[in-house]
Amino acid sequence: MSESTTNDAGGAPTVRFADFGLAPEIQRALSDQGYVHPTPIQAQAIPVVLAGRDVMGAAQTGTGKTASFSLPIIQNLLPHANTSMSPARHAVRALVLTPTRELAIQVAENVKAYAQHTPLRSTVVFGGMDMKPQTEILRKGVEIVIATPGRLLDHVEQKNISLAQVQMLVMDEADRMLDMGFLPDLQRIINLLPKKRQNLMFSATFSPEIKKLAASFLTDPLTIEVARSNATNTSITQVLYKVAEEQKRDVVEHLIRSRDLKQVLVFSNTKIGASRLARYLEQAGIKASAIHGDKTQQERIAALDAFKKGDIDVLVATDVAARGLDITDLPCVINYDLPYNAEDYVHRIGRTGRAGATGDALSVYSDKDERLLVDIEKLIKQTITRGELSGFAPGRSGSGERTGDRGSSGRRQSDSSRSFERGDRGERSERGPRGPGAPRREKVDPWFLKPYEPAAASRKDPAEAVPVAQAKPKQKLAALLGGLPKQ
Ligand code: AMP
Repeated sequence: MSESTTNDAGGAPTVRFADFGLAPEIQRALSDQGYVHPTPIQAQAIPVVLAGRDVMGAAQTGTGKTASFSLPIIQNLLPHANTSMSPARHAVRALVLTPTRELAIQVAENVKAYAQHTPLRSTVVFGGMDMKPQTEILRKGVEIVIATPGRLLDHVEQKNISLAQVQMLVMDEADRMLDMGFLPDLQRIINLLPKKRQNLMFSATFSPEIKKLAASFLTDPLTIEVARSNATNTSITQVLYKVAEEQKRDVVEHLIRSRDLKQVLVFSNTKIGASRLARYLEQAGIKASAIHGDKTQQERIAALDAFKKGDIDVLVATDVAARGLDITDLPCVINYDLPYNAEDYVHRIGRTGRAGATGDALSVYSDKDERLLVDIEKLIKQTITRGELSGFAPGRSGSGERTGDRGSSGRRQSDSSRSFERGDRGERSERGPRGPGAPRREKVDPWFLKPYEPAAASRKDPAEAVPVAQAKPKQKLAALLGGLPKQ
């Protein structure tokens, strides 16, 4: 990479969108959104992308990266904008690839909003949904397509879409796409594109694999990196609570109640753990929902919408489901489980304390998580404050109420019926009280006794599948903490 530019979180506050010479239709859309000043990544990327140069952006969700590529795409495609009904007049000219359906939907929503005053058409295609409605839209002609790789190739195979006129390609969250094993799909897609095109790649981390991918398909890119909100952001207050494993749910409930938390994102390492915690909280009268890879697309969209609207206060999510979600400025995130990968801790707590706002990152852990904690503190190079739980009365999940990991007979779910979103690393599961001293359960919700059954619709979707063998958790600390490793 020949050149690079960096910018601190403060960016260039004097720059305004009006300085970029964007078309009035785009300016109007920005005004509709209430945006006046570009974020640092936007301030740096927009002029460069408008000038037609390839860009390698070190930025993640929450930095405003979506507008940094969407606005120049719309501006550059405006000469092709037309109101003709003929599909031939609406060739696909910009393609945005994303690893997950959620990110695809978010990007598509942004593009739609920014292009709303232009005749440019945009759409989103992703797996886990009927292909027919997507096919109808594609066949009518559309200039900007946002897609997950697998479903895009399905449409290519069925000749619903031609990529022969794509002039701008964006690979969003490229690191996550590699982690999820999309490299062969990406290569197939790139082979279908015209050789002459502009390429933009965004990635939160810069592993050797990402650099290799960048070198293979970017031409003389400008590398742009922006500081991210994360562990180095002092506006995030991190607190750890050491508790008995069987009390973790009660402690989470206690934290939510005692702090009167609204809009809190709770991370669970497993899909079943997420479902069960959400259920547990719901039964305690807290408005909660779970989001993970085994939820159907409709369920996930509904949960995310409800959370954004404030209809639910607590969203319990796995890392894969939460990754890329545009849920920003959260007052609090809670780690119900410490993550297996220390890097995920940084990603998780980066959800709060954004844009100068303060945030709390609370974690509960038990004896058996000590090793994970050592890894986290080593990575973030700080000792996290150990908190005391004031006013916590242990015993509800410990006494068996609402718990139900086992039935009243003490039956546990078999390991094979448990579902781990990120593979089998570390057999961590929800645990109820054990041993002869454990109180007998009085009430058991039958929901907990049912074998765990992932939703069929989402199981089939490649966009969520994380092939364990291909997962590459190794990420550079420097990149995670806001900078690129020195080249
Ligand atoms: P992104 O990193 O693209 O997912 O954007 C994160 C959030 O910031 C989204 O909710 C955007 O709508 C919002 N956003 C993007 N650009 C700006 C801007 N220039 N001013 C204020 N908010 C923005």
